[in-house]
Amino acid sequence: MDIHEHQAKEILAGFGVPVPRGGVAYSPEQAGYRARELGGEAWVVKAQIHSGGRGEAGGVKLCKTEEEVRDYAATLFGKQLVTKQTGAAGKGVYRLWVEEASDIQQELYLGFVLDRKSERIMIVASSHGGMEIEDLAEKDPDSLRRMIIDPAVGLAGYQARELAFALGLSGGQIAQMVNVLNACYRAYRDLDAFMVEINPLVIRASGDLVALDAKMSFDTNALYRRPDVAALRDPSQEDPREAMAADHGLAYVGLDGDIGCIINGAGLAMATMDMIKLAGGEPANFLDIGGGASPERVCTAFRTVLSDPNVGVILVNIFAGINRCDWIANGVIQAYRDIGLDLPVIVRLAGTNVQEGKALLETSGLPIIATDTLAEAAEAAVSLRRQNAAA
Ligand code: ADP
Ligand code: MG
Repeated sequence: MDIHEHQAKEILAGFGVPVPRGGVAYSPEQAGYRARELGGEAWVVKAQIHSGGRGEAGGVKLCKTEEEVRDYAATLFGKQLVTKQTGAAGKGVYRLWVEEASDIQQELYLGFVLDRKSERIMIVASSHGGMEIEDLAEKDPDSLRRMIIDPAVGLAGYQARELAFALGLSGGQIAQMVNVLNACYRAYRDLDAFMVEINPLVIRASGDLVALDAKMSFDTNALYRRPDVAALRDPSQEDPREAMAADHGLAYVGLDGDIGCIINGAGLAMATMDMIKLAGGEPANFLDIGGGASPERVCTAFRTVLSDPNVGVILVNIFAGINRCDWIANGVIQAYRDIGLDLPVIVRLAGTNVQEGKALLETSGLPIIATDTLAEAAEAAVSLRRQNAAA
């Protein structure tokens, strides 16, 4: 789960990271008021969306007067801001962050990520911040420093100092950097984060370090024990299809194709998507309905898949171990009845109670295409979709 920049800054500040003074605004008037409240001569107005690359996309602006702050805020509110990371639909701007402008001497990059290879938290840092980490890895890979943290020891003092030296810092900045590193590490670990990124971490003209941007992402599996973090969720920033699925406890990821998928088991779901591609089609989604899916749950899965207007055919692929094929068959039949489904549905069942499941589908009188193998199911889905699209 992602959160907004202003929320990440508030959290990190609580752990001791220096951040610029600022305030949230929900209207242009409030943005202007924030500027007055902050005082000074220049402010930066920043669109709060769950995406980086806002600067390049016109979502971050330096303003010199209160009026300019208000006017710029007025152009941002309600806009779908398209950045390199959002996709063509962009993300809606419903809140802004107005902060004091910083006199930047240098921009650094600092990220804490989960390194799956070493199964450890890893720090990635560079003396060339400001650009996205992907661009940095391409344009200036030599500037990147990586450091792995041993969970039993935590971030060791010598490691933090070594990193500060490697970034070219000196004097009092070393101690400031060590403080920032420790604070980020604690925030990451204590709040079950997946990622903490400060890009840029800047050296101001005064020589002080300050986090000009902040991004945090959290492990959704741990949200049950982090109610304060869970409360920061902003559904306006999520894919509506995924938000709906999450509300029903379904593991769903929206994709760009037109073949809707309802599968049990993440591995089988991945294999099914591969088979659809192999047959020349494009999946509309990843969806794992999980084990022991009741007919009601199957019905909910259908509703979720159908909320995507691109879907032209649905493929149900179940290998029933904990599940039972007759439950799934009943779920499919119920979905036809309750939702008034008018798309072709291909069902491949295998495992527990497969004969009962197949018999239910056959006697239902519904236009369901039952197949025995995954390959047949994928081919049937792709060819039906082609026929329908042509018609
Ligand atoms: P994004 O990563 O989404 O583009 P950032 O918050 O990193 O957004 O802002 C983009 C750039 O705007 C920064 O790299 C920095 O150069 C500039 N910037 C952001 N906040 C300030 C600020 N308070 N004062 C001066 N410049 C800023
Ligand atoms: Mg940034």
